Amino acid sequence: MMSKTDFFRKDMQKQQEFGINKATKEQAILYGFKFYWTGKECANGHLTYRYVSSDKCRQCSLDACKIKNGYGKSEEELSMGKVRAKIEDYKLGKEEDWWGD
Ligand SMILES: [Zn+2]
Repeated sequence: MMSKTDFFRKDMQKQQEFGINKATKEQAILYGFKFYWTGKECANGHLTYRYVSSDKCRQCSLDACKIKNGYGKSEEELSMGKVRAKIEDYKLGKEEDWWGD
């Protein structure tokens, strides 16, 4: 199974093959890319690619994945209310796909 990182790298390769750097959403849809570039920061201040499918920031998605897997975060961070609530929801299976990917 491809990791999220490999998945992203493959899409960037594909964009390069088309001679495109930082595809707009229109280009991404036209050429079938999975990621596009807005040039704007997300709600959490990340300036990176977004998913065509969900319009979500790639970094937010990666962070959510790390939280889900319980690594990359200290115990203290994991115990923060908002994050903890998300994890509890996940454990209970309330929102199996809450990170939107
Ligand atoms: Zn973000």
